[in-house]
Amino acid sequence: MELRATGITHKYDDLTALEAVDLHAREGEILALIGPSGCGKSTLLGILGGLLQPSEGRVEMQGALPEGCLNPLTYVFQDFALLPWRSVRGNVRLPLEHHQLTSDERRERVEDALARTGLTDFAGAYVRQLSGGMRQRVGIARALAVKPAVLLMDEPLSALDAQTRNLLMEDFVGLWLREKLTAVYVTHNLDEALRLAHRVVVLSRRPGRVREEIIIDVPLDER
Ligand code: ADP
Ligand code: ADP
Repeated sequence: MELRATGITHKYDDLTALEAVDLHAREGEILALIGPSGCGKSTLLGILGGLLQPSEGRVEMQGALPEGCLNPLTYVFQDFALLPWRSVRGNVRLPLEHHQLTSDERRERVEDALARTGLTDFAGAYVRQLSGGMRQRVGIARALAVKPAVLLMDEPLSALDAQTRNLLMEDFVGLWLREKLTAVYVTHNLDEALRLAHRVVVLSRRPGRVREEIIIDVPLDER
């Protein structure tokens, strides 16, 4: 599916956070959204995900939903937003517990998401026992379990140290190469954008406007 935002302006009282922003995430594309702190990246992601109603503009999805999609727009959070007292498997199962699925369907989705993120051997571990990098892999697995149309990733590596961030970037490249995911990937880190994205949209300092759009033609595995 494609996600298209047109003419997005957002005001918090008299502060204009975004002004006339157009954004188009194409199917199978990782779109990085970068810019300085306060330029409106999180606001825009919230608008794309339907958490915030923009002051002006609209967001549309086009195309067919992926088979088995339970939540078209699914978030991956900077702070992981996991339940520490539940197991890895229990966290990945969490969003499925709110849906009508047979226990076989639920199990299949959970085990599949764990396998795709290399977590099968850690399924029984408790999240509170895991490192930050492993926690974010659980965050990704949980998102994949609902078979989203578009992943909305809000600074997914910002809470991690540099070494872990590099390892996770390699994970992500592997994931992108194996699967045709569509994602909007918010970061303030240019390295991440240049390593992970097919296209980079740069927002200017307040009010956030699209300042530049960069297409990166180099294949992910040659960067
Ligand atoms: P970024 O994610 O790029 O750091 P944000 O979208 O968080 O930017 O914020 C954009 C601007 O809007 C900032 O100036 C921020 O202080 C302001 N802002 C964000 N959320 C609110 C809010 N709930 N109320 C008022 N101002 C806000
Ligand atoms: P795991 O089953 O991988 O250990 P949890 O730590 O989340 O995952 O679950 C602890 C126990 O609670 C398990 O026996 C699990 O089957 C059960 N459980 C988890 N979620 C639910 C639920 N929504 N309804 C009923 N039982 C549940």
